[in-house]
Amino acid sequence: MDFPKERSDANTLLSKLETLKSDDLRWKQGRAFSYVYYASPEITETLSKAYLSYFSENALNPSAFPSLSIMQSEVISMCKSLFNAGDNAGGVMTSGGTESILMAIKAAKEYAKKYRNITAPEVIMPLSAHPAFNKACDYFGVKLHILPVGSDYRVNPESYEGLINENTVLLVASAPSYPQGVVDPIPEIGQVALKHKIPFHVDACVGGFVLPFIKDRTFPNFDLGVPGVTSLSADIHKYGFASKGSSVVLYNDNELRKSQFYIYTGWPGGIYASPSIMGTRPGGAIAVAWTVLQLLGQAGYESLVQKMMSTAKAYQDFLSSYEGISVVGSSDMCIFSIQADGFNIYELGDEMHELSWQMDRQQDPSALHLSISPIHAEVFEDFKIDFDKAYKIAKKKDFNKLKNSLQVGAAKGLKKILPEKTFGKLQKLAVQKSDTNTNRSAALYGMIGDLKGSGTLDEMIIEFLDKMTK
Ligand SMILES: *Cc1c(COP(=O)(O)O)cnc(C)c1O
Repeated sequence: MDFPKERSDANTLLSKLETLKSDDLRWKQGRAFSYVYYASPEITETLSKAYLSYFSENALNPSAFPSLSIMQSEVISMCKSLFNAGDNAGGVMTSGGTESILMAIKAAKEYAKKYRNITAPEVIMPLSAHPAFNKACDYFGVKLHILPVGSDYRVNPESYEGLINENTVLLVASAPSYPQGVVDPIPEIGQVALKHKIPFHVDACVGGFVLPFIKDRTFPNFDLGVPGVTSLSADIHKYGFASKGSSVVLYNDNELRKSQFYIYTGWPGGIYASPSIMGTRPGGAIAVAWTVLQLLGQAGYESLVQKMMSTAKAYQDFLSSYEGISVVGSSDMCIFSIQADGFNIYELGDEMHELSWQMDRQQDPSALHLSISPIHAEVFEDFKIDFDKAYKIAKKKDFNKLKNSLQVGAAKGLKKILPEKTFGKLQKLAVQKSDTNTNRSAALYGMIGDLKGSGTLDEMIIEFLDKMTK
């Protein structure tokens, strides 16, 4: 598309925007099990108005728009109270979980440099923690140690001990982890952190606005009230139900918080001070976060969470009633994944996709992931009917495929997302691999598991990302 020479008609453009959406995930119809967390049309409508009323405002300079400063302080204050932060605690609003995590790593790194003179910082986290930590360590030159998780998909608190050394600047755990929805043993890890006097970050990005509202908890405390926990991330734009672009990172110690800030005083444009990664900060996202926390309050979140928890339970019971299907681990909240025994789970994902339902693929173990929103209670009957169809096809297909070393059927999904050249390359590798074991039932997607860590896979994914974002 060339840069347009002439103006376009506003109404035409607006209606084009609507038609462009036609191939997108149908989240309003409850077909999406990730990416969009949808409470109700009424809430979305109110929040859209809040966003529009701060559409152009910029929180870059806190004194230019006092309204945005007040709202940010109040959001942080509400979250401090929700997560039982100490009196000396503080926080910063960010654009999302990734920015919150980048900032927690940056703060830990700077803090350790200032107070412990550490110049080669290291972080320890479980395999189940979000890749935003890998990204942060990569960006900021921090060495990352990854701990295995147990058969219940939780990290063993003692396993941190073996990797802690004089360069350790932060321990990390999740409440809960995204892949299986299990909460790590935060109080015990907190004890390890205290013993070694090392900061400890709890990633509550996906759980922050669910876990505090669950009645009959199956997990121990996870928040800033737990001894040893020094920082916490929670996404308002996930189960807080805000529009995209809002999360918080909170610190029990304000010195740690200040280590996150960036200042530069030499610029001819003026003194530049910025609390987080973003320069220009969208007012709309702040106004929405401020609005939704009060629109719902404790009572509103409690009733939504109760609904999501019972819906998740109903989905889990339904899914595991099928022969060979089971829930992976024992989720503590309304996100979970399912695995298949005796046939290929990705095949099932493909069939559900054909019927317009989206469930993300996971690896180690091969699984499909579901994040339950209130809308999924309404579409449960439709889901059951389609799942039943998909299950039957997937099982049959897999039977035929056992004779077919190339797994053509299962490769369909991949073929849709990978560029032609990359797909061809992957296919060639798959053929080479399968020569050694022509009977294996792993799908082409599963081959990715075998290629993991090899330069070939990284190179192919970079090529893919390049093509998608050009
Ligand atoms: C979503 C998520 C993140 C990253 O958040 P983004 O808003 O996608 O940047 C981090 N940790 C966990 C556990 C998450 O679920």
